[in-house]
Amino acid sequence: MFRLDGRVALVTGGSRGIGRAICETLAKAGAEVYVNYAKGEAAAREVCEAIRAAGGKAEPIGFDVADSKATDEAIARISKEKGRFDVLVSNAGISIDQLLLRFKDDDLDKMLAVNLKGAIASARAAIRPMMRARWGRIVFISSVVGEMGNAGQVGYAATKAALLGVTKSVAKEYASRSVTVNAITPGFIETDMTASLPAEVREQMLKATPLGRIGSPADVAAATLYLCSEEAGFVTGHVLRVNGGLYL
Ligand code: NAD
Repeated sequence: MFRLDGRVALVTGGSRGIGRAICETLAKAGAEVYVNYAKGEAAAREVCEAIRAAGGKAEPIGFDVADSKATDEAIARISKEKGRFDVLVSNAGISIDQLLLRFKDDDLDKMLAVNLKGAIASARAAIRPMMRARWGRIVFISSVVGEMGNAGQVGYAATKAALLGVTKSVAKEYASRSVTVNAITPGFIETDMTASLPAEVREQMLKATPLGRIGSPADVAAATLYLCSEEAGFVTGHVLRVNGGLYL
């Protein structure tokens, strides 16, 4: 069940955290995975080596998702070289947290460029080969914060909520080509992004999570594999919450 043998997949921001777990999980299921990085080339190479050591197929691919031309070229190159492009997991994201009164326009621009425009640019480039093949899977990694809001994360919440609108619109546009488009909204997941949070914020998040634990990147990766599988072929425009019950 949930095999991806023969499929070519790209995971943006795949060199660490949730992205890394997704790369490893898709590769374990048989996909050939392109591990995207913007700056962490050494980390991306290390992910590929770990995947190959476990018997999987992976290649690093460097581009900044905020550069739509570079994104377009990279996806076109993969699609040309492999003759297919089946799965896009748009995972690259940044958060710059600040209360509204101190929130800078410039920080909003930075988050919009990566979290929203980067996701749209990746999907736009991926959709062409998927349409030709009449098969495709796109998964956007949004956030529980896009659904429930969070004090101090006005800009981040805005970009992650916007992704849900993107998911549903693209799902409607390409359903007739058997391309499914879904979003995952992770709750509090243990990664570099959350490592710097003050102890009291972590404690609060834990208390508010009915399942009583912090999520792992593997929790998000398992949900991603399902949405990318053949078995999820009748699921599109869906927002899959992987949040331990934090928001219901
Ligand atoms: P992370 O910071 O460890 O990983 C983010 C990845 O995106 C990094 O590899 C980073 O290099 C990459 N990236 C950033 N800007 C990029 C760019 N311009 N081009 C290409 N890659 C770029 O964080 P994470 O927790 O693994 O987050 C992964 C995704 O999950 C993000 O979209 C994040 O918003 C989302 N998310 C995380 C949590 C959480 O609790 N950790 C919760 C909800 C959603």
